[in-house]
Amino acid sequence: MDGNRHDNDISAVVEADRAHVWHHLIQHKPFETGAPRIIVEGRGMSVWDQNGKEHLDAVSGGVWTVNVGYGRERIADAVREQLVKLNYFAGAAGTIPGARFAEALIDKMPGLSRVYYCNSGSEANEKAFKMVRQIAQKRYGGKKHKILFRDRDYHGTTIGCLSAGGQDERNAHYGPFAPGFVRVPHCLEYRRHEQEGAPEENYGLWAADQIEAVILREGPDTVGALCLEPVTAGGGVIPPPSGYWERVQEICRKYDILLHIDEVVCGVGRTGSWFGYQNYGVQPDMVTMAKGVASGYAAIACLVTTEEVFSMFKEAPEDPLDYFRDISTFGGCTAGPAAALENMAIIEEEGLLANTRAMGDRLMERLGELKEKHAVVGDVRGSGLFCGAELVADRETKAPVDEKLAQKVVGECNAAGVIIGVTNRSVPGRNNTLCFSPALIATADDIDHIAATVDAALTKVFG
Ligand code: PMP
Repeated sequence: MDGNRHDNDISAVVEADRAHVWHHLIQHKPFETGAPRIIVEGRGMSVWDQNGKEHLDAVSGGVWTVNVGYGRERIADAVREQLVKLNYFAGAAGTIPGARFAEALIDKMPGLSRVYYCNSGSEANEKAFKMVRQIAQKRYGGKKHKILFRDRDYHGTTIGCLSAGGQDERNAHYGPFAPGFVRVPHCLEYRRHEQEGAPEENYGLWAADQIEAVILREGPDTVGALCLEPVTAGGGVIPPPSGYWERVQEICRKYDILLHIDEVVCGVGRTGSWFGYQNYGVQPDMVTMAKGVASGYAAIACLVTTEEVFSMFKEAPEDPLDYFRDISTFGGCTAGPAAALENMAIIEEEGLLANTRAMGDRLMERLGELKEKHAVVGDVRGSGLFCGAELVADRETKAPVDEKLAQKVVGECNAAGVIIGVTNRSVPGRNNTLCFSPALIATADDIDHIAATVDAALTKVFG
């Protein structure tokens, strides 16, 4: 593709953006002098900005979303065809792509059976929380209503999801939060020294046992569900330590607690399996997903449950109010499932799960080399094409690096034409884990280029 595209009207676009768009997740003050970045076009692994500059996107659209890469005409064609046939009907009725995608999805999720459509990861998680509360009322006289969430995990932007939010920095301005959400400790082995009593051996089992301790403290008869990310994303890219998930499953079964797994980031290929939980042999009761479901070609999110959970909502058909009394208006849009069907077919036909595993291994190798070379890289970790490199000021104490320096590394990479991310916002001053989540189509050259760019940026910032 021509690396120097330019739209003559682009300066008017930049002005309109500067004057009227309230961007997500950033401070706006710098826009008053600098220019906002407008992303104009995308193809494969790359996007082009308003100046015609090409950027290799190592974060799939910024937030782990564009799993199959940009410019997929096949998805656009399928969506167009569906939109002119039927764009929408409210979810009390079915649609052809809705039924077909639900069937295709369940085929990838043994043990689960029902798909509830909505629009965003937050919304899917809210719906899961509502189901837990309703089950508590229906079955347990309101008792088993508490929802456990984990330190450093994130589940979305609404007040309900922030009530289950383990990233304090994101929550800081938005309380008070909803009652009945209870935090359990994180499972980041690299920082186990910060957790009182954490052992050197069998850390994974210990970390899972901390969940049991919270359940016992709260009273098992008050706890309805445990909501976890398979690999914590925004909280610092934290794959589970070994033995963790198996023990988590045992604990949930022991106390009759629903296991809700938030696959909003890991879902649909990111870790090299269809779903992150499938890497650990666990069987969830509820799974939520969003970003990679249609790779951002249409807004779609799903809450998937077991037949057992579903059947709890049809126990008393004689009661006209005894059902899940919930709707998502745009859960009836057909573009989402139409795009999701093609997205899944692309992953299958192009062997992208295997590619993700192979390229994920390569990325971990390259990051390991950066760790050897740069003392500032304290830890590298990942699962598939979902990796992080935590930067520290001192390897011995693991004191976090100044977050401005981490941002500088990101800036240097950006300037060199590679978009990477930085995350781990749980503790102020610790926004210091570089993160990498390129599209699942990444090649060995792409991976090596990303790593070489980060290498140069680290040298520039830290010497
Ligand atoms: N869960 C996880 C693990 C996420 O990372 C996110 C978004 N970053 C969400 C839920 C919320 O998704 P959305 O922004 O689509 O509401």
